[in-house]
Amino acid sequence: MTKLHFQYDKTQFTDEQNEVIARALEVARVAHDGQLRGSGEPYLIHPIAVAKIVAEWGLDFEAVAAALLHDVIEDTPTTVEQIKEQFGGSIAGLVDGVTKLDLSNWPKHPEADSNRREISNENLRKLLLATAKDYRVIMVKLADRLHNLRTLEFLPSDKQLRIGRESLEIFAPIADRLGMGSLKAEMEDLSFRYSQPEEYKKIVRLVKEATQKSAQYVTRLQQDIIRLLREGGVTPMSVEGRQKHYYSIYKKLIKLDGHMEKMYDLTAMRILVPEVADCYHVLGVLHQHYKPLIYRIKDYIAVPKPNGYQSLHTTVFALDGDITEIQIRTPEMHEEAERGLSAHFYYDQHKASAAYAKGHGAAKLPNKLSWVSDLANLQQLAHGQDFLEGARLELFTGRIFVFSPRGDIYELPEGSTPLDFAFAVHSDVGLRAMGARVNGRLENRDVVEILTRREASPSRDWLNFVKTQTAKNRIRSWFRAASREGNIVSGRATLEAELKVLTRGGLADLPVRQVNDALDHLHVRSSDDLLAAIGEGSLGVAQAIRRLVPGAAKPASVPVVKRAASTGRILIEGDQLPYTLAPCCNPVFPQPVVGYVTRGTGVTVHSLSCRNLPSDAERYVDCRWETTPEPMERLACHLEVKAMNRVGLLSDITGVIAKHQFNIGHLASDAGDHGEETLVTFVVEVPDLFVLADLIRQLGTVSGVLAVRRAD
Ligand code: MN
Repeated sequence: MTKLHFQYDKTQFTDEQNEVIARALEVARVAHDGQLRGSGEPYLIHPIAVAKIVAEWGLDFEAVAAALLHDVIEDTPTTVEQIKEQFGGSIAGLVDGVTKLDLSNWPKHPEADSNRREISNENLRKLLLATAKDYRVIMVKLADRLHNLRTLEFLPSDKQLRIGRESLEIFAPIADRLGMGSLKAEMEDLSFRYSQPEEYKKIVRLVKEATQKSAQYVTRLQQDIIRLLREGGVTPMSVEGRQKHYYSIYKKLIKLDGHMEKMYDLTAMRILVPEVADCYHVLGVLHQHYKPLIYRIKDYIAVPKPNGYQSLHTTVFALDGDITEIQIRTPEMHEEAERGLSAHFYYDQHKASAAYAKGHGAAKLPNKLSWVSDLANLQQLAHGQDFLEGARLELFTGRIFVFSPRGDIYELPEGSTPLDFAFAVHSDVGLRAMGARVNGRLENRDVVEILTRREASPSRDWLNFVKTQTAKNRIRSWFRAASREGNIVSGRATLEAELKVLTRGGLADLPVRQVNDALDHLHVRSSDDLLAAIGEGSLGVAQAIRRLVPGAAKPASVPVVKRAASTGRILIEGDQLPYTLAPCCNPVFPQPVVGYVTRGTGVTVHSLSCRNLPSDAERYVDCRWETTPEPMERLACHLEVKAMNRVGLLSDITGVIAKHQFNIGHLASDAGDHGEETLVTFVVEVPDLFVLADLIRQLGTVSGVLAVRRAD
């Protein structure tokens, strides 16, 4: 058998570096000796191809050596320690990073499928963590995956399907986020071809038909553009028709409900000019001759995409009024768009190599790709599923781009809220957020202004709707770090408020012995511990009070009434028929009621004393409150509500009580028509005082209400 060679551009490395690469090749050769690929070729072909891709991307010699060795740990008896001895920690770290977990001890799941998902999740987690430490890991992995996709035809169809899907879901999006446009396109098309063979064929056929018709058109347009630009005084470096890749056509077609004719950018023209100023010049010339679709002019030069992409895009009515997309950019922008992170590596290679040589380990990322290092933050909270959900969300879901009022651009997962934005700006902004000049979910290109207060005052409720892991972490850790003193203060406020309703006294008024008994029962050491627990939410206030004040729910001091209770329903002429409660008087049990038949809407039930009762007596129907067959015990509590006088106040107050179907009586208000403040008093019959405490809280939220207290 002929000996396989690794041909690459040796001039990009020093002699010593090429020496290391040669040693790596020999180690791989020995380790993989006798192994074959699915195609029947020697296995060594694969690591050599991967190393070639890595070298072409312009990565350093360590990455190239690691690419040659990338499968030896997984597929041969060679160990990480051996690689470390022979090649040092840096190369060994890279090889280890791309190596899947040793799953020989992995617990077997009853269902093979979920087992596989779990395994692939764990592998992804390991890969991302390694990438967070050294992003060359992901580059070697992407090269590995690319070559596997290029040779996918030799694998059985179930593997084609799985590898194709995984690449579409995970690796192509990563390539995209690294700005590597051509890698992303190639990976997507290969994955598409093998994971959805039927759709792939359909798209290839559609595109073939569409482009045959348009080939001639593209040539004519090309010549027309070159002529227009010359006349306008610009000499383009190239004007070319460029076809969208299959998978992006497929995705676009789904969005367009299959209407191929609406796809304006199936073939786009791409114009390269030497300088940034030329780009705008070209745009001006084109718009003089071809009318643009105004909402499709995009200036990604002034506002690059977060992955670094720059270009001017415009869609115009070109020759014969045909709608065509045109992209204008400089060669540098083009290089960046196609190669992304690898372009950086290419340019900065010597600098980067010097950094490794000095033993600094991983290279510094270009700033705009700092999201890769955000993975390191995820690592801090990483426990299995949490980490993966976070990582998946941060990396692979749809992204939107929003702006601060100063024009800074932020990238967030779709469905993010203004709070997510606030935390993305700075955790301090998030914690002090009190509102935003945008409501609800953020849309692409929203400009978001966060209103803040002076002190941090986050709410636990935020955890229920923020989308980003960053926001969740910051909120959680704030609460964790919130001082014990703070928890004690807020715990005391909560407990005292509740005690005031129940016992009309405070914590200090309770017998010491009773308090100590309660602490014992609740397994807390001191009353401070008790208050802190209530403050941080680990102990419910009602639970604490049941121990602190046995019998608090039904104290002997409150009169007990026994009477039929309302079921909350109203019977119309003795029957259960549909009705609505009149919003003008909001009748509550046991107020006498009457029904009024409205054409089309049925029966509206008013309080008999309602001033809005219509005079049309013929349309009245007999109504009464339905009651429980057995009388029930209730506590009759006097409440006083102090409020600003306003129209509708009484009905709002009784409305809150009606919602709970509590009886209400002795309703009185001292309000003169001119008084500013009013005192509303009534007796409400409730099952116990815990319920009363809750009711008092709700009454406190009625607009205009200043204070609510028990008056007996
Ligand atoms: Mn491999």
